[in-house]
Amino acid sequence: MLHIGCHLSCARGYLAMGRQALSIGADTFQFFTRNPRGGSVKPFDRQDAQALAAFLREHRFAPILAHAPYTLNACAAEERIRAFAVRTLREDLERLSFLPGAMLNFHPGSHVGQGAKEGIRLIARMLDEVYTPQIQTPVLLETMAGKGSEVGRSFEELREIIQAAREGDRLGVCLDTCHVMDGGYDIAGRLEDVLAEFDRVLGLSRLRAIHLNDSKNPLGSHKDRHARIGEGYIGLEAFGRIINHPQLRNLPFYLETPNEIEGYEREIALLRGLYREES
Ligand code: FE
Ligand code: FE
Ligand code: ZN
Repeated sequence: MLHIGCHLSCARGYLAMGRQALSIGADTFQFFTRNPRGGSVKPFDRQDAQALAAFLREHRFAPILAHAPYTLNACAAEERIRAFAVRTLREDLERLSFLPGAMLNFHPGSHVGQGAKEGIRLIARMLDEVYTPQIQTPVLLETMAGKGSEVGRSFEELREIIQAAREGDRLGVCLDTCHVMDGGYDIAGRLEDVLAEFDRVLGLSRLRAIHLNDSKNPLGSHKDRHARIGEGYIGLEAFGRIINHPQLRNLPFYLETPNEIEGYEREIALLRGLYREES
């Protein structure tokens, strides 16, 4: 069965997201842990989180994915911004401990001129402060488009973070199809080669989630402009290959682009139609 969902707003609470996902044919979803462009967060409603946890079990959802805010930058030059990253990730993980089965995804960060090497060191240091052995929630690094000074634009950069972090063995990766295309990995035309490269550098066992976005720009653009499924340079046929690939087909897939519920519902139906059930 295809495990697929989309990005939902948590404005009406946790359980409301589960219900909304179910109503559009999804069996998972992604949500921002807090205001993505600010960082403010609503008071935690533990009962609501526990109600969602029960709902996810009852309806046999695939792991849901929490996305850290964009303002989280573990390798900022300013100490104040790095401290915000530590505080935010720590608090988000605390909340997620009430949602067993949820994973947390974050953008490694932008080194803002300090260089990728220093960026990687600071990201690993932030993880060392926050990702303690007691934490059960899987933490995922997202593959980045390489816009500006983004760290994580190549599989090698992600590997360096993983190797530098104390709990690196437990870190996973979320592959964003638009971002890797932007990063110069031809996931549209050479899926087998891209997966072989991922396996060589990171190991496919680290791949825990996939963001399904088409791209408004061609291979290697480093622009990070998402397109709807089938309306960009990746194309519908390639998405059919991605979701059916033997090494990917059981992973959870998350849509992030139309950003409106009817659009998501259509894309979920479209992709379910392309999925070949195993006999
Ligand atoms: Fe993201
Ligand atoms: Fe993404
Ligand atoms: Zn993006």
